[in-house]
Order: sequence, then C-alpha cells, then structure tokens
Amino acid sequence: MAAHLIDGKALALSIREQIGKDVAQLAEQANVTPGLAAILVGEDPASAIYVKNKKAACGKAGIYADENKLPASTSQSELLALIDKMNADPKIHGILVQLPLPKHIDSKVILEAVSPEKDVDGFHPYNVGRLVAADPVFVACTPKGVMKMIESIGQPIEGKRAVIIGRSNIVGKPVALLLMHANATVTVCHSRTKDLPTVCREADIVVAAIGRANFVTRDMIKEGAIVIDVGINRLEDGRLVGDVDFEGAKEQAGWITPVPGGVGPMTIAMLLQNTLESAKRFANK
Ligand code: NDP
Repeated sequence: MAAHLIDGKALALSIREQIGKDVAQLAEQANVTPGLAAILVGEDPASAIYVKNKKAACGKAGIYADENKLPASTSQSELLALIDKMNADPKIHGILVQLPLPKHIDSKVILEAVSPEKDVDGFHPYNVGRLVAADPVFVACTPKGVMKMIESIGQPIEGKRAVIIGRSNIVGKPVALLLMHANATVTVCHSRTKDLPTVCREADIVVAAIGRANFVTRDMIKEGAIVIDVGINRLEDGRLVGDVDFEGAKEQAGWITPVPGGVGPMTIAMLLQNTLESAKRFANK
C-alpha cells in the first residue's frame, strides 16, 4: 500500500498564513513589527538562494527583513561588530547568520556572539542547553519543522520507537531530543553504527538527516512507519532528492515526506514562527 504523503509545502503555507495574521495582530495590539536580520557573508550561490527565500517569506508574512550582504573578505571582527549592532537594534527580534561562513571566520565564535534572546536559529549554546533541559526557548528551525510534520499526522508519539540517522548539532541531535521529550524511545545512528538496516527496521518513526542521496531504501523500513526525509542532495542530472529512496520507501511506509516539498518549506515557516515568538517576548517585556 502506498504511504500517505506529509505535504510540507501545504503545511508550511497554512502555518505561514496564521503567522501573517498573528503579525498583524501584534502590530495592532502592541505596535510591534517582528524584525529579522539575515547576514550573508560571501558569494555561496546556495546560501544566497536560502537568504532570498527567507527574505521573501518574511515579506509575505509582514515581518521586517533586514538583509546584510557582506563580501567574502569580511573579517571576523567586522562581522562581530555587525552582530553587536543587530543585538542592540530594537527593530530586530531575530538574527540569522547564514552558514557556512568563509574559512577564516570561526563559526562557533560568531554563533555565540548572537544574543540568545534573538537566536531564532536556536544554535547558541544557551538555547541548546535549554533544549537539553527540556525547557526550550528557541528550537532550531529544521528540527522544529520535523516535529510539526510528525504531529500533523495526529498519531501519538509516546512509546514509539524512533530512529534518527545523523547526529549533527543542527538536525540529528535536536530532533533526537525533541522526540525523547515527546516520550518516544530514541536511537541515534551515525557513520559508525553497526548494521544500520536492522536498527532502522525496528523504527516506527525514521528521521533521515545524512546528506546521502537515496540512502534509506525500502528494505530498511518497517511496514507502516513514519518516514521524515531531511536530506537535500543534488544529483548529477540536476534533480534534487532526499536521503530516502522515495519511490521504494513509499510502498512500505505509512507516512512519508517528499523532497522537495517536505522538510525544506517547514524550516522557513519555523524561522518565521521563531521570529514572531521572539517579537512577542520583547513586546511583553
Ligand atoms: P552533517 O553532514 O552535519 O551530518 C550528517 C550525519 O550523517 C552525520 O552524523 C554522519 O555521521 C551521518 N552519516 C554520514 N554518512 C553516514 C552513513 N553512511 N551511515 C550512517 N550515518 C551517516 O549534515 P546535516 O545534519 O547538516 O544535514 C543532513 C542533511 O540534511 C543534508 O542533506 C542537508 O543538506 C540536509 N538539511 C536540510 C535542511 C532542510 O531545511 N531541509 C536543513 C539542514 C540540513 P558521523 O557523525 O559519524 O559523521
């Protein structure tokens, strides 16, 4: 039986429409317009597209977007000075530093310079710690989007076996924490995991965040499982595919996300959501 599709594009659109209404209400009631500062250093074409899409999404939701494009030659201290300025700017409620940064800049130093109160990406150690303590302020956008997609199915997460493939700080680890906090029994797999297919077949929920095209095949999936594909991989023929072999997996899974049109649009919706939540917190101070 073919799996139900979890349509990230449609879900993200409905969330963005609600955000647009909430933004208008915040402006009316508290005279506050949420503001996001996006900082892009260098000429990486993929990063430029991501920032452009995020800016356009802000515009549609009524969120003020301040795009800061800096040359690849920007020094670390110049970038830190810009972040300090944004940290102090009352029009800005969220700061996004698009990764990757040029090699001469230490990303760790930069991400720690963003005020935890404006850290809409949820990458600052303070916000990571709050997530670990099950008392989050900002949850990183992609993991937050993954949870919304799983929740949208309307099935209980509690007691389910979840397998996360990938242990990065920005996807795998926070997704594992969120699923654990939702009372799933969580296993995190990585490149040193032995017999990954056997581990994966035990999962009621599979989250693939690897960065390898079509890595998760039909034989690795338990019948009826929820399969969330975070991967974005460009094939030689130009096609964009996920980490899951969608055509095979959809015959075995109960629910599955497509690529494109799955987790990607949800990541942007969650960025807007985090910016709105931040503006509300500032308004209530
Ligand atoms: P990273 O490269 O940081 O992490 C990849 C993880 O996959 C690592 O933990 C690595 O293990 C694991 N891995 C690699 N090869 C294997 C293997 N053969 N078997 C098992 N595990 C393996 O990637 P990210 O987490 O940043 O991103 C993952 C994917 O998600 C990418 O395709 C990225 O483009 C996409 N992405 C999509 C987003 C969206 O909005 N849709 C947002 C962010 C990312 P180890 O730790 O042992 O090296």
